[in-house]
Parts: sequence; C-alpha cells; structure tokens
Amino acid sequence: MSGDLLLIVEDEKHILRPLVAYFRAEGYRVETAMDGEAALEVAGREPPDCVILDVMLPKKTGIEVCRELRATQPLVPIVMLTALGSAGDKVLGLDSGADDYVTKPFDLVVLHARVRAQLRRARRVAASAGAAPARQVKLGACEFCRDKRLLTRDGAPVKVTAMQLKVLEYLLDHEGAVVPRSELLNEVWGYDAFPSTRTVDTHVWQLRQRIELDPNQPRHFLTVHGIGYRFLLEPES
Ligand code: CA
Repeated sequence: MSGDLLLIVEDEKHILRPLVAYFRAEGYRVETAMDGEAALEVAGREPPDCVILDVMLPKKTGIEVCRELRATQPLVPIVMLTALGSAGDKVLGLDSGADDYVTKPFDLVVLHARVRAQLRRARRVAASAGAAPARQVKLGACEFCRDKRLLTRDGAPVKVTAMQLKVLEYLLDHEGAVVPRSELLNEVWGYDAFPSTRTVDTHVWQLRQRIELDPNQPRHFLTVHGIGYRFLLEPES
C-alpha cells in the first residue's frame, strides 16, 4: 500500500474505469480528469506523485498538458499513454517533458511497473536534493567517479572518449527516463553539430562494451525501440 497520489488523465471511460479500479486496489490514492483543462486544474489543487497522461484528449492534448504541468511541477513523473505504432507521438511526448510512455493497448502490470519505477526515481531525486548526490556510482563491472570523471574497472582506469563520458553523464542525470536519440544529439553534441543518430548508437554501444557485465544483454543501457535509450543505475530484476 503506497498511498501515493496518482492523477490519471484519460477521456475514454472504458479505459479510465479499469485503470482507476486497478490502482486503487494497489493502494494508491487516485484522482482523475477526462480532458486537458481538468487535468491541470486537478493537478493544481493537490500536486500528484505521478501522472498517467493520455495523449489524445479534448480541450488540451496530453502534450500541451505535459508542457504546462512541467512549468509548475518540474519534478512530477509523467507517464504517457500513446497510440500503437505512433513513434512521432512518443518522441513528441518525451520532448514535451514526459518521463516514460506506455503504448496502447497496454498491460496494467507493465504500466504499474513503469509508475513504480518513476516513483522510485522521484524519491531518489527528492532525497538527493537535500543531501550531497552520490558522486561515486557502481555500474555493472565498473565504478564511475563523477567528480574526477573517472571510469574504473577493478581499480584500473577504463579508457573513454570525451563524448562517451558526456553521454554517460547525461544518461546518469536522466536515470530511469526514456531519452530519445534526438535529445542526446541536441544535448550532448549540440544543435550546431550534425552527427547522425547512428553516432549516438555507436557511443552507447561502446559504453556497453566497457561497462555492462554482458554487453549483449545490457542491464544498464537499455534500448527503447524506435526512440532511444533508458539508463538504469540498478538493473530491474
Ligand atoms: Ca484519448
């Protein structure tokens, strides 16, 4: 029983009802909204711990809600519900500030796992806001010291390029969230550089080779098909 407050925004009653029943049975407090304007109003009354947000909504789309909510509640985890096969929706959703997405039709257990992961991440962020962040992290076969920007394996330095380091640091800062390739390109390489998304894949591949215990079965640098990557500090069991 978590007692966390979930805001579920979905305009289709036949989808909303089972969602509400499921999460209440799992011990969450649940608020609902059936259009974009109501979503912002409800979120404004009592800030939710996590938002499940449909993309196609009356009055304001999920993308607009996401952007506006981010302006006032920058840290609230947002999981988007996107239409099957619409990669454009997913990227747009993630660009607008969503942390993760689940494709419709979704499995409630999968959605719940995503919500739990986001709640864990939000708690870690909140806990580290007051304390000094962990500057030394254990990562697969390696250790990474953020202050020294030093990656080691069994105490010996591992060679990484400046770009690989920047990719690693960006993913560490966005741990648990889906990071689109386009975001990595813009944030790590910069808007005025024009490498291809293949460049991003190559760098992540190289990081896997150095860091993952089994690079062929990555547990830290996960691929999100058609979108980009999700980086996990602690692998999901
Ligand atoms: Ca809808």
